[in-house]
Amino acid sequence: MKGHVARKRFGQNFLVDHGIINAIVSAINPQRDDTVVEIGPGLGAITEPLLQRLDHLHVVEIDRDLIARLKKQHPPSRMSIHEGDALAFDFATVGQRLRLVGNLPYNISTPLLFHLASYAEQVYDMHFMLQKEVVERLVALPGESEFSRISVMLQYRFHMEWLIDVPPDSFDPPPKVQSAVVRLIPKDKTLLTAKDDACLFRVVQAAFAQRRKMLRNTLKGILDDSGFAALAIAPTLRPEDLPVDDYIRIANYLTA
Ligand code: SAM
Repeated sequence: MKGHVARKRFGQNFLVDHGIINAIVSAINPQRDDTVVEIGPGLGAITEPLLQRLDHLHVVEIDRDLIARLKKQHPPSRMSIHEGDALAFDFATVGQRLRLVGNLPYNISTPLLFHLASYAEQVYDMHFMLQKEVVERLVALPGESEFSRISVMLQYRFHMEWLIDVPPDSFDPPPKVQSAVVRLIPKDKTLLTAKDDACLFRVVQAAFAQRRKMLRNTLKGILDDSGFAALAIAPTLRPEDLPVDDYIRIANYLTA
């Protein structure tokens, strides 16, 4: 692995399958002057082919050894290296129409997706490799067992497209799980009808806190029987049965 020992705590599984790497870069289809930000460039599996097609690339990396290697390999004119935790990084400082890409560290993928969702207005598109289970949740439809908090909160802001299945032996070291690449494209602002995003977040959080229970119980203290009746939503439904639009209707009812 080019003299680097993979660090488990940073979720390091480096891509080594050139077929998969080419498929990811083709799916991204970078244009020379795009503003691309790669999260976790690692040993450069996606970074190098991206740089061949771009004038400049931004990367966010936490591992100091990998940062030192990247600095040696790439002059600042070609690569801006943002050193530190992607979870705390302010992506808005990079610019607008951002194209975010990355083979994400799986140990922080859920909080990272929530962090990135807050930059939807600055984002043009996102292409991420994730644990397959997480991609299943991202694209799940109401009524499916994978439909969860992250499905609602990310589907509210993004169109999702499942692109590529990636087996463990495409990585070194191989992860214990299957992986998949997903594309997220921010929805038009006019479709974002929640009056208060924080309220929507609270409702969804409460609803899915106990996913086997009925909404009447999980939303106790938030929405009473008259609220359910006014919205024509059955209080006996379980959180995974309720479409995204209904979560928005509940949040807007409470905001009003
Ligand atoms: N892109 C490389 C590849 O495909 O081979 C490496 C992918 S590896 C799964 C995840 C990368 O994210 C590693 O380079 C790791 O050091 C970096 N990373 C882990 N946690 C991070 C964090 N909180 N912020 C920024 N980078 C992080």
